[in-house]
Amino acid sequence: MNSSLAETLDTAALGLLDEIEASAGFEVRVRPSAKGRLVLPYERSSNVRVVLTHEEATIEHDVPIDQLPRHAVVHELLHLHRYLVPQVPAIMERRAMEFDTASAIDNDIEHLVIFERQLAICPEFASPLNEQLEQFWSRESWASVGATDLQFNLVVRAAATTLYCTAATKATMRKALAVDKIAARVRKSAERVIASLGDKRALVNAVFEASGIPTSSFKFRVLHPMERRYTEEDI
Ligand SMILES: [Zn+2]
Repeated sequence: MNSSLAETLDTAALGLLDEIEASAGFEVRVRPSAKGRLVLPYERSSNVRVVLTHEEATIEHDVPIDQLPRHAVVHELLHLHRYLVPQVPAIMERRAMEFDTASAIDNDIEHLVIFERQLAICPEFASPLNEQLEQFWSRESWASVGATDLQFNLVVRAAATTLYCTAATKATMRKALAVDKIAARVRKSAERVIASLGDKRALVNAVFEASGIPTSSFKFRVLHPMERRYTEEDI
């Protein structure tokens, strides 16, 4: 790693970084983000994000490094770790779209796996995570959300809430779902998603089926950083 960020990392985070760099064969770079550049739209509320290809990995930050919450840095390292160490496939668009839908979908799905380790390394992350999901389930109406988006969000958030949230947040979720009379369907889909967590391909298929997202619009890309190449496959 090329910056003072490494000096701020503790043993657990440094262990992640070592595994990433050993498996990738390249150094993780760190730099302030280019102003106004939206690299990962789904994490725009965060002050840190990653840019990753089969040849390089960069952590971009919007605020000075010493002001970044520890759990946010660990979060980005966990994203990098998944793609570069066990080399799980990432969802890509079959053709370029205006907005990076595939990355947004992949990011949300990856979080279902990443949160477990993030909470183990950074227990302080429990509070913002619960707050975020409490807010999602407390919204007054989903009328403005499209059907596919809505189904995707409900299933992924229901799985995350079931896996990682407090009893209070789970109660807010149950209340929200009861109002829309779709609780049973969402719960069943979330259970299937949770049962698939150990296998990225099965996990994506479970989420897509539950959300009505056509697999034909997307493909998988697997990075092989040591060979400086990637492969692609159907979902
Ligand atoms: Zn993320």
